[in-house]
Amino acid sequence: MRLLLFGAPGVGKGTQAKLLSSKFNIPHISTGDILRQVVKEQTDLGKKAQEIMNRGELVPDDIMIGIIKERLNKNDCKNGFILDGFPRTEKQAIELDKLLYEMNISDIKLINIFADEDEIVKRLNNRRACKECGHIFTLNEIKNSDTCPACNAKNSFYLRDDDKEEVIRKRLEVFRQNTESVLKYYKKQGKVISVNGLGVIEEVNKELLKILRK
Ligand SMILES: [Zn+2]
Repeated sequence: MRLLLFGAPGVGKGTQAKLLSSKFNIPHISTGDILRQVVKEQTDLGKKAQEIMNRGELVPDDIMIGIIKERLNKNDCKNGFILDGFPRTEKQAIELDKLLYEMNISDIKLINIFADEDEIVKRLNNRRACKECGHIFTLNEIKNSDTCPACNAKNSFYLRDDDKEEVIRKRLEVFRQNTESVLKYYKKQGKVISVNGLGVIEEVNKELLKILRK
């Protein structure tokens, strides 16, 4: 099972990644994580990437592809992987295709977890964080209580900046702009699986598994 994972902010992409990863026993590879990892390990590519980031520039595609190649060649990817965070442009998608071709991999699928934007805004807007312990609750979970169920702090709930409507709308817009061309690219190849992410976590997962088993 070789998957590319796409999901707008707020659709529970991380949760689905975790479930799929344990279900199929394949690693969830976030490109942000592996980039940090190679920088920490100071591999050749890690050193190069660090130099570039220290100059305040973005890590170029060829270095990112190199880092992904090293990661996908590790033993735990033999049965598959979930790649998260790449590609973000059509050019990157073409480069990734080349790499996968080199590796004799042709059965890639792109999972696109989507949701209605107004629904995402509503969902995130309905969350409150506790400023004492950091736990996040839905309004439904705390009802009209002013006491945190996790740490018993009083009057500690607040709406995080990340959960405010204008911030969410901006992030969704950036996401849409970044991913539109990539989705189109994979749709042309018939490799996109789209699932609505706003259901109950288990239901979304069931739906995903059903489609993947086809
Ligand atoms: Zn708390």
